[in-house]
Amino acid sequence: MQKIICGENCYKQIGDLLKQLNVKKYMLVCRPSFFKMGLNEYFADIETKAVYFTDFTVNPKYEEICVGVDLFRKEKCDAIVAVGGGSAIDVAKCIKAFVNLPNGEIYFKQKLVDNEIPLISVPTTAGTGSESTRFAVFYYNGEKESLAEEYWIPEYALLDHTLLYSLPEYQKKCTLLDALCQAIESWWSVNSNDESKQYAKTAVEKIINNYRAYIFENDPEAAKEIMLGSNYAGRAINITATTSAHAMSYKMTTLYGIPHGHAVGIGLAHIWEYMLNNPQNCSDKRGAEYLLKTFEDIANAMGCNSAAEAVEKYKGILKELDISGPKATSEEIGVLASSVNVGRLKNNPVALSEDVLYDLYLKITQR
Ligand code: NAD
Repeated sequence: MQKIICGENCYKQIGDLLKQLNVKKYMLVCRPSFFKMGLNEYFADIETKAVYFTDFTVNPKYEEICVGVDLFRKEKCDAIVAVGGGSAIDVAKCIKAFVNLPNGEIYFKQKLVDNEIPLISVPTTAGTGSESTRFAVFYYNGEKESLAEEYWIPEYALLDHTLLYSLPEYQKKCTLLDALCQAIESWWSVNSNDESKQYAKTAVEKIINNYRAYIFENDPEAAKEIMLGSNYAGRAINITATTSAHAMSYKMTTLYGIPHGHAVGIGLAHIWEYMLNNPQNCSDKRGAEYLLKTFEDIANAMGCNSAAEAVEKYKGILKELDISGPKATSEEIGVLASSVNVGRLKNNPVALSEDVLYDLYLKITQR
C-alpha cells in the first residue's frame, strides 16, 4: 500500500526514508529543472550516495530509458527516487521494471516481473498523478507506449506543493488541464466504480475551486489543493484509466509538439458536447440514463446546473487560460483521425467512429 506524505518541505524526509529502507546507493531521476529549483542543495546533504540520471526528454523515449537502465546496473544502485513531473516519474518506473530483464530483446515486449527496488516519487507538476498510478508512458519510434503494472506504484509519494511555485505559468496551465481531464474522464469512464468516482469528484472540486488562485495569484493554499487534486485524479485513473480526450491527444503531441496537458485539454469540451448529443450510442453497460446522470453529477461538481452549462464553463476556462488548438490542414486532420487507437477508446462511454473523430479534430483545430 502506497504511503502518501503531504506538506511544505515534506520532500526533505527522503534522507530518512532512504536510511530506513537500508539503501546503499540510489538513482535520482530528474530533469534539469531540478537544479534550477535549487533542490540539489538538500540532496547533496543526504548521506546515502546518489547517482543522477537526467538524460531524458519530456515525453521520454524508450532509448533514453535504456541509458538509465545501463547506468543503474553499472553503478549497482538499489533504489530509485524520482523528482519531477510525469516524464521523470515514468522514466523511474520503467528503469525499475527493466533493470532485471535480460538484454537483447526490447524490454517492454518481455514479460515484466516484480522486484524489490524501492521507488520514491516527488511530483513537481500537479498534472499526471503518475506518483500514484500504475501507468508509465514513453515513446517508441514516435508512437506512444503505455505500460501498466501495479508493482511499480511508488512506495512513497511526497506531495510538497511548494515545489509547484517554480513552474512556468504555461506549464502550470498544461498540467492543471491534464489533471482536470483525467478526473472528468475517469468519472465518465465505463470502468468507473464508487471509489474512483469519489476520487474524481474530489479532484474536480479541488481543481475548479482553486485553479484561478493557483495560476494567476500563485496562492500557496490553492497550490496545496491543486497538488492534492492532481493526486486524487491520478488515483481515479489508476482504477479506470483515461478515455477519449487522452486517446486523441497523443498524435497532437507528436505531430505539433504540444505538451501533454495542452493536447488533452483542447479536446474535452468537443467530445463532451458530442456525447451529450448522442447518448443513444452509449457503450456503458449501465445505460444512457446512467451516463446522462453522470454528466449532471460532473457538472454539479463544477458548480453548474446542467452538463451543457458545464461544457460552456470548460470552454470558458480554456479561453481564460489562453489555451487553443493548433491550426491543421485537412490532410493532417485525416492523419490525426486515423491515428487514434480504437482499443484505447474502449473506455469511452459513447462509441466514436473515425468519421466522428475527424469532425472532432476539425473542431479542435478550428480554434
Ligand atoms: P513533464 O514531466 O514532461 O515536465 C514538463 C517540463 O516542466 C519539463 O521540462 C520539466 O523539467 C519541467 N518542470 C517540472 N517540474 C517543474 C517545476 N516545479 N519547476 C520548473 N520546471 C519544472 O510534465 P508532466 O505534464 O508532469 O508529465 C508529462 C508526461 O507524463 C507525459 O509523458 C505524459 O504522457 C505522462 N503521463 C503519465 C501518466 C502516468 O500515470 N504515468 C499520466 C498522464 C501523463
